[in-house]
Amino acid sequence: MKLLEDRIREQGQVRPGNVLKVDCFLNHQLDVDLLDAIGGEFHRLFAGQGINKILTIEASGIAIACMAARHFKVPVVFAKKAKSKNIDGEVYTSTVHSYTYGRDYDITLAKKFLGPADRVLILDDFLANGKAMRGLLDVCRQAGATVAGIGVCIEKGFQPGGAELRAEGYRVASLAIVDAMGDDGSLTFRRQED
Ligand code: 5GP
Repeated sequence: MKLLEDRIREQGQVRPGNVLKVDCFLNHQLDVDLLDAIGGEFHRLFAGQGINKILTIEASGIAIACMAARHFKVPVVFAKKAKSKNIDGEVYTSTVHSYTYGRDYDITLAKKFLGPADRVLILDDFLANGKAMRGLLDVCRQAGATVAGIGVCIEKGFQPGGAELRAEGYRVASLAIVDAMGDDGSLTFRRQED
């Protein structure tokens, strides 16, 4: 998606540890017009798949999911990053390793919001090693929900998450794929084939 690539080139900042900061427009300060265009693009890519729910993870995925949901006209449900309180079996839980913070955390989702009748589009801001996505897929598996597709704004193509998910048969659409980040702050993008 050229609009997103252009913005990443203009305002993205390469940080040590292969971290790309996009907090000017995507995950701290939010450019709502850009997010609306992103939501429209996800709708163009996944329309007609019978999607009845969008699943994401707090906090950065929520705005993206909400803007996409306006195009799909379906609800958003987000996994919470909280200590598991699965005493009474009312929530699905999974453990995720955080790339940016370098530690594990639990995610939870109330069972009443996801079940076998759901065809889910999973959305997030970044796909790197795929750990956050694995947690969301695990929650879908526990719920018996069908994963109709995975959409991310920025895939870091030099990390294995996207390739692994595609090899497993998931349809993964990334609006911008960064193949390389140079020490000088330079970025190389790849266009997705499918
Ligand atoms: P993964 O679990 O695929 O390794 O990483 C995805 C999660 O880590 C995303 O939810 C995102 O919040 C965060 N993340 C991974 N890489 C980056 C990055 O380069 N920049 C930012 N801002 N977040 C990242």
